[in-house]
Amino acid sequence: MGRFVYDFTEGHRGQADLLGGKGAGLAEMTRMGLPVPPGFTITTEACRFYLASGREPHALADEITVHLAALEERMGRRLGDARDPLLLSVRSGGRYSMPGMMDTILDLGLNDDTVTGLARTTGRERAAWDSYRRLVQMYGSTVMGVDGSCFDTELDRARRAAGTDSDLGLDAAALRRLTVAFQAIVREHTGLDFPQDPREQLRGAVRAVFDSWRGERARIYRRREGIPENLGTAVNVQAMVFGNLGPDSGTGVAFTRNPATGRRGAWGDYLSDAQGEDVVAGIRDAVPLSELAALLPDCHSALLAHLNTLENHYRDLCDVEFTVERGRLWILQTRVGKRTAAAAFRIAVQLVEEKVITWDEALLRVTGDQLAQLMFPRFAGTTGGAPLAHGIPASPGAAVGVVVFTSAEAVRRAAAGEHTVLVRPETTPDDLPGMIAAQAVLTSRGGKTSHAAVVARGMGKVCVCGAEGISVDVAARRFTTAGGTVVAEGEVISVDGTAGRVHLGALPLVPSPVTAYFTGGTVPEEARELIDAVDRLLTHADQVGRLLVRANADTPEDARRARAFGALGIGLCRTEHMFLGERRRLVEALILAENDDARESALAALLPLQRQDFTEILQAMDGLAVTIRLIDPPLHEFLPDRTELSVRIATERAQGRAVDPHDEQLLAAVNRMHEENPMLGLRGVRLALVVPGLVAMQVRAAAEAVLACRAAGGDPHAEIMVPLVDTVEELRLVRTEIERVLRETDEDLDVPIGTMIELPRAALTADRIATAADFFSFGTNDLTQTTWGFSRDDVEGAFFTRYLEQGVFRVSPFETLDLDGVGRLVELAVREGRQTRPGLVTGVCGEHGGDPASVRFFHRAGLDYVSCSPYRVPVARLEAGRAAVGTGTDL
Ligand code: ADP
Ligand code: MG
Ligand code: MG
Repeated sequence: MGRFVYDFTEGHRGQADLLGGKGAGLAEMTRMGLPVPPGFTITTEACRFYLASGREPHALADEITVHLAALEERMGRRLGDARDPLLLSVRSGGRYSMPGMMDTILDLGLNDDTVTGLARTTGRERAAWDSYRRLVQMYGSTVMGVDGSCFDTELDRARRAAGTDSDLGLDAAALRRLTVAFQAIVREHTGLDFPQDPREQLRGAVRAVFDSWRGERARIYRRREGIPENLGTAVNVQAMVFGNLGPDSGTGVAFTRNPATGRRGAWGDYLSDAQGEDVVAGIRDAVPLSELAALLPDCHSALLAHLNTLENHYRDLCDVEFTVERGRLWILQTRVGKRTAAAAFRIAVQLVEEKVITWDEALLRVTGDQLAQLMFPRFAGTTGGAPLAHGIPASPGAAVGVVVFTSAEAVRRAAAGEHTVLVRPETTPDDLPGMIAAQAVLTSRGGKTSHAAVVARGMGKVCVCGAEGISVDVAARRFTTAGGTVVAEGEVISVDGTAGRVHLGALPLVPSPVTAYFTGGTVPEEARELIDAVDRLLTHADQVGRLLVRANADTPEDARRARAFGALGIGLCRTEHMFLGERRRLVEALILAENDDARESALAALLPLQRQDFTEILQAMDGLAVTIRLIDPPLHEFLPDRTELSVRIATERAQGRAVDPHDEQLLAAVNRMHEENPMLGLRGVRLALVVPGLVAMQVRAAAEAVLACRAAGGDPHAEIMVPLVDTVEELRLVRTEIERVLRETDEDLDVPIGTMIELPRAALTADRIATAADFFSFGTNDLTQTTWGFSRDDVEGAFFTRYLEQGVFRVSPFETLDLDGVGRLVELAVREGRQTRPGLVTGVCGEHGGDPASVRFFHRAGLDYVSCSPYRVPVARLEAGRAAVGTGTDL
């Protein structure tokens, strides 16, 4: 084990694992010569040691002493010096940014003596006491565990006593009294004094930062973002700079481009005469960055220059936290900025145009999930009448839900399947569960860089913030608009995060501009740049991608839609819906048939209908492959419900009425075919082998459809796929039958015959199965069910939430392929299948085919294609391209 502390001058951006993202950024900026207050970073390794053993590593205290001495030397000030004290910030920062989820303590080093020294050296008594009361407040709550609301109540009382509603209205004397009151609160709640010794303060703060890694809100955030639990956080100890020293001081947050829309040009908020956390907390209203140009022109131009330097250096959108102390600009943090989906696409293409990155790199700057978000519906134009309220369009999209006022209520209603909008004056990290549960967030206070805005953008949640026209009464569970409308908990509102508007009731939705572009609808002018970016990135993805994308489509409409979204064929055409509706009676006749004649006439009635279905689909996919899967579900699914039927017959009997003999026959069949576990029963290839004539009819219909399309001048490519094969014997038998029918229909039909691999036994015997299969298609839904031994419909509601909470899995195996288990079966089957039959075509037709992480795995496993629902096709195309150019970051 090496050292645990690094000076900012010693690290660099490549060390985010060790120094955390914030620490690595501070070190990198220091190396680049940007004005960063000096300091040092305690490594994530020290934190991991602490978390594992419950104590700090022995060497840590000494290392901190050495680095602190160097910092004091550098600053010409000493920690705890009553005349001219050095003050510190102690900041958390793990590998991945977790905005506001863990603790930071500012103004550390203040005590009853040094506060006067600070007042003297800064010449601002008020600022000194303001800093001290903040320290007692932050330290008291985060290190000593006092409920933060006790301080808030006291602060409110002080404001009222001073006849003001802003912190700025409190003078030095009031703030001094407040500090004393805060210290009393600490004593009352903990039995301990607020520590006067700055070194003790430092020890406590470092430990609190370590502990905050395990805090509830940090855990929730990590689960939501898929950040591993075992990384730990670094701690950054840094000399304080003061944004609260009067009108030539202030603090702000700036982005190199607009992270909400992707528009070029610096974007951000500035708050005069304030410390950093005030901007994020939305305590007072910040002004746009452009106003800094009027207030402090030199600082503004220096900031723009630094933003430019950082963006070129990181070759991506950056955000920074900065503070101006008496006209001098300091940069306190930078990172690659979180952005909305639209901004991600626009910025990636802008950076290519500006020759900062290549097209391959641009693909890694966007994700399939972001593209999926861009395809969600929007509100239709200007319908909906006058809005209830206007606010800042902090995170775009359309959401409809019932109003709730607390995080807990949002969680409760979400569990009951309700869509909600969380309405708060402002949000804090404690609201995180509710923000995750809700469809949208609406706040009355706070700007575009407030907590609500930053977190919502990161999660892709709709957010309107700073809607000042509404007043939110959390206790009474209602909000009141400027016009006097009262909206109570449980009422439905629509939140338009793109326009920053809120409407009463549910507004109608229309396809998003991106979806409209795919399907040939009209695209609004303001979406042009975005559409262009999506188009160019997808084009590049198609060029570099190796994995092809097909769609799962069972109808001609779906087939056409899939083509519009860029599908290169149908990987799964299910035939079961072709036996429903009015055709049900024909299936019933087939099942009830008592002799060959009856069976054949039922099949003969079905044949032309199937042929017509196939013909239309093959026409819609002309020139591209259409994989037709033979009937899969157990036949009793086409019969009436067993209980319903028995009750009906029993009732008729009880009332002495005559029972329809057809019903009686049906009930006998239903009873005969009843299965305890239909999922594991008589279905798939098993049906084909025990119900004579069914497969022959389906194959004949497909073959005749091919001939019909050819006759009409088309270029049909049908493939026949056999479901639920366990052993090569099953496939051989069915294959013989299929080949016979194909030959009978036409001598030179070229229809490949393949199988689904969706049972573990099939995967394990893939080498043998490949002797009878022209292609494999992994049915990853069934393969997941049968590998894990649970049925999706039964378990998702029953215990998946618990499993996710307890960390049994990080994501549902039905959403993202379980690489360790199911993934291994896929790899094995691909490898061994190709050993038997070189060039064996392999694909995937489960829902995983449209899941980004799974698509990247299928690329690595060497599959030829994925097939997914039509709407997911663009997502899969993008991910196939991303998989081909590199791994990118998965977070
Ligand atoms: P978070 O990760 O939640 O943003 P930070 O560690 O960045 O937390 O700190 C919270 C706030 O304190 C930020 O607004 C930051 O700008 C401010 N801050 C941190 N360090 C200093 C410092 N050395 N001087 C002045 N303000 C600081
Ligand atoms: Mg920060
Ligand atoms: Mg299946």
